Order: sequence, then C-alpha cells, then structure tokens
Amino acid sequence: MESFLVDYLRHIGITEGVTASAVDCEVCGGAEFVTVADIVDIGKDAFGKLPIQCCTACGFMMQNPRFNRHFYTTFYNTYYRTLLFGSSEPEKAFISDQVRRGELLYRSLAERGYLKEPGKLLDVGCSAGGLMVSFLRRGWTGLGTDPDIGFVNHGKDRLGLPLVVVDAEDMDLQADEYDLVVITGSLEHVYDANHTLSLCRRASRPGALLFLEGRALGQGILSGHFSHNHRRYLTASSLELLMVKHGWEPLFTTDAPLCGPTRPGGVYCLGRAVDVPAPEVVRALIRSGKRDDPRALQERLAAGGVAVDAAPNRDAQGVA
Ligand SMILES: [Zn+2]
Repeated sequence: MESFLVDYLRHIGITEGVTASAVDCEVCGGAEFVTVADIVDIGKDAFGKLPIQCCTACGFMMQNPRFNRHFYTTFYNTYYRTLLFGSSEPEKAFISDQVRRGELLYRSLAERGYLKEPGKLLDVGCSAGGLMVSFLRRGWTGLGTDPDIGFVNHGKDRLGLPLVVVDAEDMDLQADEYDLVVITGSLEHVYDANHTLSLCRRASRPGALLFLEGRALGQGILSGHFSHNHRRYLTASSLELLMVKHGWEPLFTTDAPLCGPTRPGGVYCLGRAVDVPAPEVVRALIRSGKRDDPRALQERLAAGGVAVDAAPNRDAQGVA
C-alpha cells in the first residue's frame, strides 16, 4: 500500500485487515481519471492525501483509490459519528434539523403533486430517522436503515421510529414494497452505490419514486476543502445518470433548497421507477452530452478556493 494511504489509516486508527485499490468509474465503468483534488480534511483538525478523481469519459467525481469494505464498515460502525460530533449519540439540534428537513421535503414533493396519498417510505442512510417523522405523521408507513447503531437506537428508542441497523449494501428488502425511496446525502458515503441502488430499485413498486440528494461537492466548495468521508461527489448529471442506469426516469433535478437552508450546496433529483435499461442506453446518454466536464469541475473548485493539493496554508503534514 502506498505510504500516504498507510498514513491516513494510522490517523483514522483502522489498520487491521485493510487493503486498497484503484477502482473503475462507478457510473460508466471507465478506467481513466484525472485527479482534481489531492488533499482532504481527514478529521481531528488535519489534512492528508486521499485523491479525488474525475472519470475522463463521464466526468464522475469520486475518491480513488478506495479501501476494502472492511475499512468502511469499521469506520461507520465505530468512528464516524465520534469523529464528526465527538459522541455516538446525536445532539438534540441535529435531530430537530432532521425532522424539519423531512417536513420541508414532504411539502416540496407534495406541492409538486408527487405525494397524492400515503404510501410506504424507505429512508436509506437515515441516521436517527428524523426525516421520516413528517411522512409517518401523515399516514405513511416505512423503514429507515443506517449502519450507525448509536443513531439508529436513538431513533428507535426515543422517537419510536421503524429503523434497523444495517449497511445499505446488506439491506434485506421485500421486492415491490416501497412507494418512495429517499437517500439524502448517504449515497455519497456508502461503499457500493450501484449495489445499493439496485436493491432500492428491486424493493420499489412500479411507478415508485426515488429522491436523491447530493451535497458533498457543494459543501466542499462552500467550506473550501473536501472531506475524507465522501466516496463520491454527485452532480445534476451524475444523479441523472445513476437514476437512468438503475431504472429510474428523472422527473426533475434542481439545486433549489428543497429540504431547507441547513445543508447548503445540495443538488436533488426525483425519479420514477421504469424498467432497468441495457447498459448501452447509459453509454449513449453520456455520448450525447449528459456528462460532467472534468475541466469545468476543476474550474468550479478553483473558483471556490478549494484546497486541491498541498497548499502552503494547509497542514498537509497533519497525518503524522
Ligand atoms: Zn465515468
């Protein structure tokens, strides 16, 4: 393993059983990339090398190389919330923000005519599940899944929500069960976004809706640096490509703050379940121009003053 990866793992405190390798583009399968940012925030007030690359074919922006699944499972089960919040229990303000974002999401979709009657909701990467509250109050049923035991237990025990502790890739879901699947931000964290999306599609009824939120790119640009926590950076184009690839027809895509102002920089896509197309359909879509231009993304990062490499004002030695 390259020394910068070893340094990173030591900093995080997970070294046993971890391997790393370069992976292909998760959207189009392409194997050629350009690096758009090298240095990211690795927590505990430090920056370190963990490259973010763009696929030269479709522009998809993702962390590459990647560690094996064991690393990510250990990270989210044990380290993630404590690194973020210093505690494995959520703060009250965090929960009330989740509940409020759920209410605003419900209204945003209802006002656009998409929530005609109560159905069954699946919230993937739900954290404590607060986003589900507004739906359940209005007669919806549902299930929230998250690998974080501390937050899931809080949602179950204190809020009475129907949640289970499980990695997104291991969700045990009935086929044709759900009317609405929401993944707000979590698709940028999961180990295997494609497997997660195929599980969601299989679990959805004909005509069901999928709501995706990407926020890592906008959040990074707003804060001036990217985080080691995000495996991928969704854009309007890549959200739509992933939707199409997994059998969803994009209905609308927007960067309007559908869930309120507390997570600025987000981009959202709502899709309706259709048949999963042949891979050629996605490739043709990319060739027709539904793609991100790596150079345009680099310019966007530069305009936002994002730390793309070991800039002199950054503590790139923080991995020591
Ligand atoms: Zn690609």
